[in-house]
Amino acid sequence: MPSSDAPSTLHLYNTLTKHEEEFHPMKEGEVTMYTCGPTVYGRPHIGNYSSFLMADLLRRWLQVSGYKVKHVKNITDVGHLVADRDEGEDKVEKQAKAEQVDPLTIARKYEEQYREDELSLGILEPFARPRATETIREMIAIIAALLKKGYAYETGDGIYFSVEKFPRYGALSGNTLENLSAGARVEVKEEKHHPADFALWKKCVGENSRHLLRWSYPEGERISTTGEDASAGFPGWHIECSAMSTKFLGSQIDLHTGGEDNIFPHHECEIAQSEAASGLRPFVRIWVHRRRIDLGAKKMSKSLGNVFTLPDIVSKGYSPLDLRYYFLSVHYRTQLKFAWKGMDDARKARRRVMEWMHETETWLPQEGGKNAEGVRDPWMQKFADVMRSDLNTPAALAVLFDFLSWSRLNKASLSASGLEAVHSFAQMVRETFGCFEEEAREEIPADILALVAQREEARKAKDFVGSDALRGKIRARGFEVRDLPEGPKVERL
Ligand SMILES: [Zn+2]
Repeated sequence: MPSSDAPSTLHLYNTLTKHEEEFHPMKEGEVTMYTCGPTVYGRPHIGNYSSFLMADLLRRWLQVSGYKVKHVKNITDVGHLVADRDEGEDKVEKQAKAEQVDPLTIARKYEEQYREDELSLGILEPFARPRATETIREMIAIIAALLKKGYAYETGDGIYFSVEKFPRYGALSGNTLENLSAGARVEVKEEKHHPADFALWKKCVGENSRHLLRWSYPEGERISTTGEDASAGFPGWHIECSAMSTKFLGSQIDLHTGGEDNIFPHHECEIAQSEAASGLRPFVRIWVHRRRIDLGAKKMSKSLGNVFTLPDIVSKGYSPLDLRYYFLSVHYRTQLKFAWKGMDDARKARRRVMEWMHETETWLPQEGGKNAEGVRDPWMQKFADVMRSDLNTPAALAVLFDFLSWSRLNKASLSASGLEAVHSFAQMVRETFGCFEEEAREEIPADILALVAQREEARKAKDFVGSDALRGKIRARGFEVRDLPEGPKVERL
C-alpha cells in the first residue's frame, strides 16, 4: 500500500544544498539535463558507466513521468590533463603518443567504442553529443566575457579564473579557499594569483609547446603548426562543459549529472565560470552525482589498473543488461562494491522478471475478476512513489518482486482491465529500468551463428540426427538454440 507521506512529485538529493529537494523544471513539462561525458582516451571501464546509467535512469523516469527531456552529453577530446590538474599531459595526446597516431584518431576510436558500449547497455541517445574540439569558439566567448568582467586574468602560460573573485567557490564541494591553499603544491613558476585558480585556456608554451591540438586565440581557428606559440592554445577541461551546456541548453539548466569524482574540481569550476559569465544564478537547479564503484577495497580506476570493460563482462558470459540491472539495483548514492556474485544475482533476477513478463502475455482475463484499480492503486502507485523518492531503485525492485508473486497468485482472477493494468505495470518497469529487453543486442559470435545456420539447413533437409548433433555443439560452446515460429533463436545458456 502507498504510504501516506509518499512524495507525489520527484524528490532528488541536490549535492549543492545537501538535501533532498522537490524537482520542478524551469519550463513546465520540459527538462534540460546535462551529463559530463567521457574523456575519450581509452575504452571506458564499467565504473565510468555507472554514472551514465544513473543519468539514463533519471532521464527515463522523467520521461515515464510525462516530461520531455532535452539531454546533452559531451565528448571530451582535448584539454583533460592527467590527474584532472592544470599541469601535465593531455590524456588524449598521451595515448596518441603511445599508439603513434594523431590525437583525433585516438579520440574518434575511443568515442566509437564508448558509443557501442552505451548502445549495448540500453542507454538512450541524447539530444546532442557535442565534442569539445568542435565547441572552441563558444569556449573562447565565455573566456572573453570572464576577462572583461574581471573574473579572469592572463599569465605567461594561459588564462586563469580567479577564485577569490567568486565568493561561492567551494559551495558544491565544501572546500574553502583556506583549505585549498593549504593543500596546494608550492610551484615557484606559478604566476597564479591564488593556488586554487584554474586554467580556462592554456598557451602552447613551455611544457605545452608540444601540444598538437591547438587553436588561435581569440579567433578559435584550428592551427596545424607545432612548437612554442603563445598565440595558440587549447581549452581547460572545465570550460568545455560550461560552453557545451550553454550552447545547447542555455545559461541555466534544470539538472546536471556526473560521477562523484566530478564534484571537485570539475563541477565546482563549471559553476564559477558559468554563473560569473552569465550573471545568472543558479547555473544548475539540481546537481545529481553517482557514488563511485569499488573493486574489493579499492576504488575502480584506470590509473590503478583494476578495471573491467564491457567486453570483459561479455566475455565472462554476462549480458551488458545484467550489468545495467546490477548497477541500478543499488541506490545511486550508495557506494557499490563490485563482485561477480552480484553479477550472478543480477542475471538471475533479470531473467526472473523477463520470464514473468512473457508469462503475463499468456494470461487470460476472467469475467467479474479484479479490475484495474486493484493493480494500479496498490502496486503501480507504490512503484512510482519509491522512484519519486530520490530514485529509490532497490525499493522499486522490491515492489516489482512482490508484484510478481501477487500477480501469479491472482492471475486467475483478473478482469480484462485488471490484466491490462498488469501489462501497463510491466511496460512502466521496462521503460524505467531499460534492462528487461530481449538479448537482441547481445553479440552472438560469428562461428556460433554459422553453426545455427548449418543446423537450420539440416532441419530443413529433415536430417534430425545432424541437427541434434549441431545443437549439442552449440550447447558445448555455451549457447542454446530454440526453434520459434519466426525462426531459430540463440541465447547464452
Ligand atoms: Zn563536464
